[in-house]
Amino acid sequence: MASQPDSVLLDVQNVSRSFAGIRALNLVSFSVKRKKITAVIGPNGAGKSTLINVITGVYIPDSGGIHFGGSDIAGLPAHIVASKGIARTFQLEELFSSMTVIENAMTGCHGKTGSGMLACGFALPSARREEKRIREEAMECLAMVGLEEKALEPISRLPLGERKLVGIARALSMKPGFLMLDEPAGGLAGHEVERLVKLIHRLIEQGLTILLVEHNMPFVMSLSEKIVVLDAGVKIAEGTPEEVKNDERVIKAYLGQEL
Ligand code: ADP
Ligand code: MG
Repeated sequence: MASQPDSVLLDVQNVSRSFAGIRALNLVSFSVKRKKITAVIGPNGAGKSTLINVITGVYIPDSGGIHFGGSDIAGLPAHIVASKGIARTFQLEELFSSMTVIENAMTGCHGKTGSGMLACGFALPSARREEKRIREEAMECLAMVGLEEKALEPISRLPLGERKLVGIARALSMKPGFLMLDEPAGGLAGHEVERLVKLIHRLIEQGLTILLVEHNMPFVMSLSEKIVVLDAGVKIAEGTPEEVKNDERVIKAYLGQEL
């Protein structure tokens, strides 16, 4: 898209996606600026996770355009999208409960290894070197989220807040330029949310661009520069936290909840 300003990293234009007649996304458009925190909020079932899934290539949009760094990524397979520097975390973090913290963090890097299954199976020196490199990179990512001291603990022993941080470390191990967090504050205690807020600020300082997908309004209000509000697959508002907070349609969609 030639008309995109340089500051725009992701541009979503009129994206729709249905599931068996349910319009999970209905002509949704918005853009994400480089090195900023943009939030997508909305009640349960609004289409937030579906949005992440169409951006990452898990689902193909029925129609509409998705441009990343100026190139069209709509409908590309997930591994190609990931190779462009787009990473995500999962709403329900799918970690491997029988593995340690570092082993879980390492699962993010494996898609990028050069050695094939054969080399790994025979423990060839090239595979061992690669394993060492992946371990070191995963350790760096655990350090970024403040969990290096827990690297060797079984993941099952960590509280939810730290398990979510391992999910972020795993996403960071792909060295993304753009990170989407799917309800990272969901289920976290107050002190865990504070830790998450600090981490998100650090990631932005390091040059990352973040799309924060959240149900929790107070959390995004304090963090985001721009907020996009979805309700039943439709964008009902977009603006600064202050603008969105006072928007009639948003208040109605979140009726009875504290904004
Ligand atoms: P949110 O993340 O905002 O809670 P979702 O994107 O998960 O919302 O879901 C939006 C709508 O799309 C819901 O009605 C949901 O049931 C539907 N949906 C999402 N994924 C699928 C799927 N794979 N198959 C069928 N329906 C789906
Ligand atoms: Mg969701």
